Amino acid sequence: MSDTAPIYTKITIVGAGLIGSSVARAARHYGAADHIAIADANEDVLAEAKSLGIADSYSPSIPVAVADADMVLMAVPVGAMASVAAAAAPALKPGATVSDVGSVKSSVLSAVKPILPDTIHLIPGHPVAGTEQSGPAAGFATLFDGRWCILTPPEDADPEALNALAAFWSRLGSTVEQMTADHHDLVLAITSHVPHLIAYNIVGTANDLETVTRSEVIKYSAGGFRDFTRIAASDPTMWRDVFLNNKEAVLEMLGRFNEDLTALQRAIRWGDGDALFDLFTRTRDIRRRIIDAGQDEDEVDFGRPHEE
Ligand code: NAP
Repeated sequence: MSDTAPIYTKITIVGAGLIGSSVARAARHYGAADHIAIADANEDVLAEAKSLGIADSYSPSIPVAVADADMVLMAVPVGAMASVAAAAAPALKPGATVSDVGSVKSSVLSAVKPILPDTIHLIPGHPVAGTEQSGPAAGFATLFDGRWCILTPPEDADPEALNALAAFWSRLGSTVEQMTADHHDLVLAITSHVPHLIAYNIVGTANDLETVTRSEVIKYSAGGFRDFTRIAASDPTMWRDVFLNNKEAVLEMLGRFNEDLTALQRAIRWGDGDALFDLFTRTRDIRRRIIDAGQDEDEVDFGRPHEE
């Protein structure tokens, strides 16, 4: 295969939201598939995807959309993966690959594997890229550029199917990494899931305060609060499913978080400035390393315009 030849003849993306529509746009932009089909049960979402012209065919029916597909990518909330797989299973082409973009991997693997016929290659995946937006219009072709895509193949995964899926994500601009589903869930619990929980919690706490008015919270939000609100604006269905499906890893990381928070509480209570200074210096270094690794820019944007 040449470097520019399509990786798949036909792909079907189920779920035309932020991630599904971004994959469709990127697959077309980078020529990763000859034919891009989209399925979404929501008529409004499907009509919006169609009006944006991001795919070659559109259907409300999963079996119709997945027929003849070489790769089916489930881009729905984690809790909906099993029902999508069940709807697709009877119509899948033998030898096809089924993958997903879910933010949790072990539960997807265990829920979907028993549903699919033996002739199908199941290789779960997770592009570590996104925004707090939802829906077809929120997607863009360069979302995966320079971002990691984690594949969590089962031990007996077909090497050819795995190579093709890795080539697909590489074509979309991602750097592909492989790990077990369990390890993925532990890593993402601390890098993504717990940070979202903290943001949801702090915004909820501010909303419930009685001695500070809501208008004061909004008015003085530039003190730090507004940056949590960006994360706390993320899709409620998606994030409910993440916490319900990555329960153990999230609870384990929350345990560590609570211990460290208690230590910080103690440092503040006893006026231990050295402990605070030491931690804040180490955390600043993490920020620097994220920028050096190309995973963010050295500008505080969060959607705000910059002065030239
Ligand atoms: P989204 O914009 O809300 O899109 C999800 C789409 O799936 C919507 O069109 C939704 O339709 C559809 N859907 C929901 N339940 C369905 C079902 N049972 N059958 C068929 N379609 C269904 O969400 P997203 O951000 O693209 O997230 C999709 C997946 O990507 C999730 O598993 C998430 O964990 C993962 N992910 C998200 C991000 C991120 O930053 N957002 C990053 C990496 C991975 P309705 O509008 O009718 O609900």
